[in-house]
Amino acid sequence: MKLLLVIVFLVLSFSSCITKQEVDLVVHNATIYTLDEENNKFDAMAISDGIIVAIGKENQILNKYKGKENVDAEQHIIYPGFIDAHCHFLGYGLSLQQVNLIDATSFDDVIAKCKEFDKHKNPQWIMGRGWDNMKWKDTKFPTREKLDFAFPTKPVLIRRIDGHAAIANKVALDLANITTDTQVKGGHLVMKNGELTGVLVDNAVNLILDIMPKPSLSNKKEALLSAQRNCFEVGLTTVDDAGLSKSEVQLIDKLQTTRELKMRVYAMLTDSEENFAYYLDTLEEPYITDKLTVCSFKFYGDGALGSRGACLLKNYEDKTSQGSLLSDTSYFQKYAKLLYDKGFQMCTHSIGDSTTRFILKTYGDVLKTTNDRRWRIEHAQLVDSSDVKLFKKYSIVPSVQPTHAISDMNWVLLRLGKKRLRFGYAYKDLLRQNGWMPLGTDFPIEGINPLMTFYTAVARKNKEGLPKNGFQIENALSRLEALKGMTIWAALANFEETQKGSLEIGKVADFVFLNMNLLTVEENKLPKARVTATYINGEQVF
Ligand SMILES: [Zn+2]
Repeated sequence: MKLLLVIVFLVLSFSSCITKQEVDLVVHNATIYTLDEENNKFDAMAISDGIIVAIGKENQILNKYKGKENVDAEQHIIYPGFIDAHCHFLGYGLSLQQVNLIDATSFDDVIAKCKEFDKHKNPQWIMGRGWDNMKWKDTKFPTREKLDFAFPTKPVLIRRIDGHAAIANKVALDLANITTDTQVKGGHLVMKNGELTGVLVDNAVNLILDIMPKPSLSNKKEALLSAQRNCFEVGLTTVDDAGLSKSEVQLIDKLQTTRELKMRVYAMLTDSEENFAYYLDTLEEPYITDKLTVCSFKFYGDGALGSRGACLLKNYEDKTSQGSLLSDTSYFQKYAKLLYDKGFQMCTHSIGDSTTRFILKTYGDVLKTTNDRRWRIEHAQLVDSSDVKLFKKYSIVPSVQPTHAISDMNWVLLRLGKKRLRFGYAYKDLLRQNGWMPLGTDFPIEGINPLMTFYTAVARKNKEGLPKNGFQIENALSRLEALKGMTIWAALANFEETQKGSLEIGKVADFVFLNMNLLTVEENKLPKARVTATYINGEQVF
């Protein structure tokens, strides 16, 4: 009897040894770039409850784990899911509900697209976005006459690609009570022969936006879900939405709880009274769930170079103006102090060298020395050479968008002149400061595809492979740097590096399959790179 028990015991323990541990998912026969500290490369990983429980060599994983689902990756390349460190996720979703003018080839084409939209949807207002006169044969800045003629009774507002300028027709101007006497701080109304041209720059655009019917919560829900669908297709698993209201953050939180929204979101709060009151005075601390991080405020330092709204140390090369800060200096100083005391992160849109100098100094006055507060400067497109070192001195994070360099390269020389442009879009110089740097796109100002971020960061060329030697190629990033900027360094800029950004045990199983190896393929093949599958929390979402 005793002997029998011993045998049973031995058999049981032997079989438990060979019984494999059951997990939700095993992915194997892959080339997994982990982007961990040692840049390890593995073949397989095991995932349970959305978390990576093991990662290693093919046999190591297959001998030990049995997946409820097994995926043979057929040697595909796997990277951590992509993070866009600066975009407008909700804004992009809403833009899908507006007239898309990105491909408009002329101002007549803009009007034709608006008419087409009006015919199909007959909205109360026509709102369009994305036109770019610099891409047209006639690059002259358009004005409202043709819009007035095409839409004599319906209000129309069409925003330029950079979001910092727009054209309103007469109906819209009248509805907003805009006259030739209207003054606006941090923006202006462009006049010609004493008349309104309909062109609105920076804060002047808000005069119209403020009176337009606001998108409803159900519009916003639809926007978030359609944005998510498109973003999964290009491998994004986290988006840093740069500028949200309290109700928008709460909508995102709710949709994530009901699992309708699976995208992870790092939300920068708009610098509104409502957000300050709720997050700084009521909650008094960052709000963080496993899908949502709310720990930062987004401030708006200046406009953009395209509409000459960026604030420069010296006049624009093609206009006797320097642009201006969008708020008083005391405003930024006050909130820098407050955010520091309350433990929030400050992120400021800053494009011109004057704004960047001021924001660096404002941050520096509060931060004092190196630190781990990860305060961010969004865009940092033009930084005076004497200011670059301040990023390192105060551990300030430059958050940049490599596609901007390529979209702007054909006209920005006219705005800045050669001497200054050398310090524009200087991503490598900025990266050197802290040794790491998050990358984004600023979509919908640019396309949503993070692989274009990768390509433009490393090649500094457009899709056609121009310019041949790359635009200011000395500021190209290495391939590994670019990949890290879209993954682990973006996570770092979000205070999320312990949960995501690399594929390691204990981190979330957010990863993408690619059709080619971004780190080794010939440069001219990079524009053809694409994501073939996207996983979030171990679940395939594309
Ligand atoms: Zn932005």
